[in-house]
Amino acid sequence: MTKRLLLPTPTLPPARIDGARQLIDTHGRVARDLRVSLTDRCNLRCTYCMPAEGLDWLPTELSLSDEEVIRLITIAVTRLGIRQVRFTGGEPLLRKSLEKIVAATSSLRTDEGGNVATALTTNGLGLPRRLPGLRGAGLDRVNISLDTLDRERYARLTRRDRLPDVLEAIDAALAAGMHPVKVNSVIMPGVNEEDVVPLAEYCLEKGAELRFIEQMPLGPREKWKREDMVTAEQILARLRTGFHLTPAEEPRGAAPAALWHARGVDKRGLNGRIGVIASVSSPFCGDCDRTRLTTDGAIRTCLFSRSETSLRELIRSGADDGELAAVWAGAMWGKLPGHGIDDPGFLQPQRPMSAIGG
Ligand code: SAM
Ligand code: SF4
Repeated sequence: MTKRLLLPTPTLPPARIDGARQLIDTHGRVARDLRVSLTDRCNLRCTYCMPAEGLDWLPTELSLSDEEVIRLITIAVTRLGIRQVRFTGGEPLLRKSLEKIVAATSSLRTDEGGNVATALTTNGLGLPRRLPGLRGAGLDRVNISLDTLDRERYARLTRRDRLPDVLEAIDAALAAGMHPVKVNSVIMPGVNEEDVVPLAEYCLEKGAELRFIEQMPLGPREKWKREDMVTAEQILARLRTGFHLTPAEEPRGAAPAALWHARGVDKRGLNGRIGVIASVSSPFCGDCDRTRLTTDGAIRTCLFSRSETSLRELIRSGADDGELAAVWAGAMWGKLPGHGIDDPGFLQPQRPMSAIGG
C-alpha cells in the first residue's frame, strides 16, 4: 500500500483560521468528509458496539435540534469546504426527521460547484419503507451493516432476530438503483470468521460492495484485545480460500478501504470488488479527510479523540456563522497525526462508537 506524502505543515497560525475556507490541520490534511451522528440510540445491540442493556442515552435537550444540525452542516459546506456528508449514529433511521435533514444537505453546493454527496450508514431495519423518501430527499449512497448470513449467529451477535429485515433492506436499496450499495462487516475471532467467504459470495452475487472492517476498541471495554483481533491479513487469507485476489487499480485517495478485485475460484464466475478496512493493523491516518459532529453538537477530529469541542452552547448563546466556523476550524487545526492505538499509553475514548458515529 502506498502512503500519500504529508504536505508541509501550513504556516497559517490558529488566530487567522477564521478567514480559512478549509478544515486544515497542522499535518497538512484537509477535511472534506463530514460524519454526522443523528442519534446515539439503536434498535440493535451488536456485541462489539453496545452492552445488552443499552447505554445511558443522551437527554433530548442535549441533542441538537433539526435546525441546529442543518445550520452546522450548512456552515461546514459553505464556509469550511466539506464536500461529502455521511449520516450515522446510533441508528440514523431512528431519527424521524432524517429525510428533512438529508434534503437540506443534498441541496447545498460545494466549493467545487456541485451538490454535496450524501450517504447513510445504517443497520437497515426499516430502510425499505424509508427509501422512497430518502431517495426523493437526494440521498446518494448507503452502507448497510451485516456481519453474518446465519440467522442464529445474527441474533446472537446483534441480540435481535432481525436478519430477514436486513437482507430485505439490501435488496430494496439495490432495487432502488442506489449505487454503490455497500455492506459493512466486522469480523470477530471465534464469532463470524467463517462468514468471510459466504458474505463475499452473497455481495458479489447481489452486486453489492462488501467492506470488511477490523474490530476497533470502541465498544464495551472487555470486548477488544489487540492480540485476539481478526486482522485484515487474516481476513484476506480466508478470502483467498474462495477467490483469486488482485489489488484494485484505482487510486485509494482518502478512502479507508484497500480495494481488491475478487474472482471466484469455482465455476459460478463471481467477480467484483471487495474492500478491507485495516484501521488497526494498517492505519490510514496520514490520509484521513474526516471531521465528525456528534448528536449533542461536539466536533471530534477522530473516532479515537480523547477530547472534543462542543458547539452546542455556542450555537445556543447566539454565535454567528463566522464564529462557529472559526471554532470548528480551530478544533480541526489541532487534529493529532494518528489514532495511537499502538501507543503504550493508548486509552479508549470515553464515548462509545454509537455515541460518536461510526
Ligand atoms: N447503526 C448503524 C450501523 O450499524 O450501520 C450506524 C452506526 S454503527 C456505529 C457504524 C458502523 O460501525 C457499523 O458498520 C458497525 O458495524 C461499525 N462498528 C461498530 N462498532 C465497531 C467496532 N468496535 N469496531 C469496528 N466497527 C464497528
Ligand atoms: Fe446499533 Fe450500529 Fe452499534 Fe449495531 S453497530 S449496536 S446497529 S449502532
